[in-house]
Amino acid sequence: MSSEKVKCLIIGSGPAGYTAAIYASRANLAPVLYTGKEPGGQLTITNDVENYPGYPDGVMGPQMMEDFKNQALRFGTDIRYELISKVDFSGHPHKIWSETGHEIEADSVIIATGASAKWLGIPSEQKLMNKGVSACAVCDGFFFRGQEVAIVGGGDTAAEEATYLAKMCKKVHLLVRKGEMRASKIMQERVLKTENLIVHWHTETAEILGEDSVTGVRIRNLQSGEESELPVTGFFVAIGHKPNTDIFEGWLDMDENKYLKATPGRSFTKVEGVFVSGDAADHIYRQAVTAAGSGCMAALDAERYLADKGII
Ligand code: NDP
Repeated sequence: MSSEKVKCLIIGSGPAGYTAAIYASRANLAPVLYTGKEPGGQLTITNDVENYPGYPDGVMGPQMMEDFKNQALRFGTDIRYELISKVDFSGHPHKIWSETGHEIEADSVIIATGASAKWLGIPSEQKLMNKGVSACAVCDGFFFRGQEVAIVGGGDTAAEEATYLAKMCKKVHLLVRKGEMRASKIMQERVLKTENLIVHWHTETAEILGEDSVTGVRIRNLQSGEESELPVTGFFVAIGHKPNTDIFEGWLDMDENKYLKATPGRSFTKVEGVFVSGDAADHIYRQAVTAAGSGCMAALDAERYLADKGII
């Protein structure tokens, strides 16, 4: 098996990973970045991004990630289109393996593996993805202003996003599969107090309707089995996210939902020389701009760490 030694290894290619790469390469850390299975991350499955500063006319998510990548390449980041499948953080340098078995020894590691939205898993959801189906109300709600939309979920995310959507949409249908919500009491109260927000209890999504855009949703009452249709043009899924942190299990501290724990306000993990950025450690903000900011922090922390150790 092949092996090599690097000063800075970046795992992940969303806004956090590429921003870390831009900073690390400009600091002469000669970073190597592994993109993972979905180069560009979650933004590659969105359409217009209108809330990232610096793009006054908006930008398509995939194009924005292409811009991030080209900026990282411009300063010499070595980008590899492969997945990291195993790490060993027991000593220094850290050991990391790619899916093909290539071994890397790294003085510093920046984790930017992100999170993935959970989906319902029905065929129409896949077919209409980005054609009215979205997993991010803050990103895409604006495109449905004045319209009628549905959102699935019963947790804090669904409650928060439903009230967010209610501010700009004509009517919002919240589809909750149980007779109660898991969301905090205060969020539930907000949901129930919002006039144009209708909660459908014991309800699941039978099918999202439409060919090239969402024209409605067929819902099923789980108690009566009765089906009915809602005339929505937008369909949001807010049933949780899964951080892509499986390979760090046993090495780094995680919360109960497997998000990595960092020192508050910093990118440090409990392992020296291993830094974390982006959605892998953030279940609250989950925005491209906050991920990019934390990627910058991780690269600056890595640079200082390598300087303190006399490696650079
Ligand atoms: P959660 O895991 O808390 O909730 C997921 C919700 O989706 C549950 O109500 C669940 O239903 C429902 N669900 C899961 N799968 C399906 C499915 N296939 N069909 C229909 N419904 C489904 O995820 P969240 O993203 O809401 O929250 C994650 C964490 O982030 C939580 O700890 C939350 O408190 C926190 N958070 C905090 C916020 C804040 O404080 N402002 C804002 C947002 C999140 P069921 O209950 O039946 O299992």
